[in-house]
Amino acid sequence: MKYISTRGDKSPKHFCDILLEGLAPDGGLYLPESYPQVNDETLSRWRVAYHNQGYAELAFEILSLYIDDIPAADLKALCAKTYTSEVFGTGEIVPLRHLENNLWLEALSNGPTLAFKDMAMQLLGNLFEYELGRRGEELNILGATSGDTGSAAEYAMRGKKGVRVFMTSPFGRMSPFQQAQMFSLMDDNIFNIAVDGVFDDCQDMVKAVSNDLDFKRQYRIGTVNSINWARLLAQVVYYFAGYFQATELNTQKVSFTVPSGNFGNVCAGHIARMMGLPVAKLVVATNENDVLDEFFTTGVYRVRTSADTQETSSPSMDISKASNFERFVFDLLGRDGARTKALFGDALQRDGRFDLSQHQAFNDARLRYGFESGKSTHADRLATIKDTFERHGMMIDTHTADGVKVALEHLQAGVPMIVLETALPIKFAQTIVEATGQEPDRPAKFIGIEALPKRVTRMAADVGAIKAFIVAHCQ
Ligand SMILES: *Cc1c(COP(=O)(O)O)cnc(C)c1O
Repeated sequence: MKYISTRGDKSPKHFCDILLEGLAPDGGLYLPESYPQVNDETLSRWRVAYHNQGYAELAFEILSLYIDDIPAADLKALCAKTYTSEVFGTGEIVPLRHLENNLWLEALSNGPTLAFKDMAMQLLGNLFEYELGRRGEELNILGATSGDTGSAAEYAMRGKKGVRVFMTSPFGRMSPFQQAQMFSLMDDNIFNIAVDGVFDDCQDMVKAVSNDLDFKRQYRIGTVNSINWARLLAQVVYYFAGYFQATELNTQKVSFTVPSGNFGNVCAGHIARMMGLPVAKLVVATNENDVLDEFFTTGVYRVRTSADTQETSSPSMDISKASNFERFVFDLLGRDGARTKALFGDALQRDGRFDLSQHQAFNDARLRYGFESGKSTHADRLATIKDTFERHGMMIDTHTADGVKVALEHLQAGVPMIVLETALPIKFAQTIVEATGQEPDRPAKFIGIEALPKRVTRMAADVGAIKAFIVAHCQ
């Protein structure tokens, strides 16, 4: 399997070449040159594998179609080490829970940081350690976080050989629970940096360091952001696992509703469907930051300014542009790299928007690729959390609530609808209390974490300061 760029660069790369990279050199995103096709027989074999041998075996089957530069025995061992009931809480790893009629929740949030990003990041940690070890190299991951991504990255990389994590976050802006989760890590290779500023200041510092190519090369700076292909690939697996739990026969179809921000999660669903998973619809749920809902209803993709991006009670979906969306548009345009470049490299830079409403591609998004969308507001979120709690005795988090609200608007008779649960309610306790009047349950291992000692360095929003910090801790 070789990988190509969405902007036309076809110089073929293998999985491990792009594992540690971000963007392709032409500014595009990596995708496999074709999607492996899964026939009925394979689907049946995987169904049995998942039920009998478990999630790690299913992950190995799917990953091996995309990875040909890690020996099978090693890849199998990496999957087995990653997807354990110790780390993810249950043997099924991603159990389905029934809500009502044809509506299901797929639990993706029982990993170390209680959000679905663990599903991919835990694998990435093991892949990084493996590949860096094989090359005899080191990597310094530099990132900016307002919550979920940073903690998932730290819990994935803690204690891993050859990797250090330098994670910036805006001082005093994360919830006490999120701060406790990150700052209580005492591992030697994890560095928390609280920046005097907002999230954008953190991101600007990271960009400035990455743009200093000499520094980047000398200190081996890397990232783990959501455009990383390996993260997307890891997410493809749970679409299959959800399908095998909701159906008994391969002739049945299911739909998924995905609380979306950067379009990474639902893009993995698109890839699963392109491989042949029997999916009826992929429903994109957004919050008030409705860049994606706007595209799927009007054909216009318009990125927002930071001033135009709202702070909501489902903060991990507060995006101004959807960084993985280019991958889907590349497929939508018949994998035409020049046209994708004209839209993302040129039009978007120039006008901040592009319009596909008059193109066949826009109809294809719905008719050929099964995409639909909807949006949810703070009031919807509160009502959905309350209703789900009162009628089903189940607490759901704010992002998942956006998904349930939109899923209910897209049900089809006879087709199970699976909403991906992207976080646990304890991470967003304030809104849960607002909706239900009750504190959400706290998993036993998180009791009292706010009182643990914290390891964090406070810093001005200054590029020189972060560079000096990295240099000092790279010895
Ligand atoms: C990251 C995140 C999302 C958005 O996922 P994308 O892959 O960016 O679309 C939704 N919910 C939660 C809780 C998240 O952490």
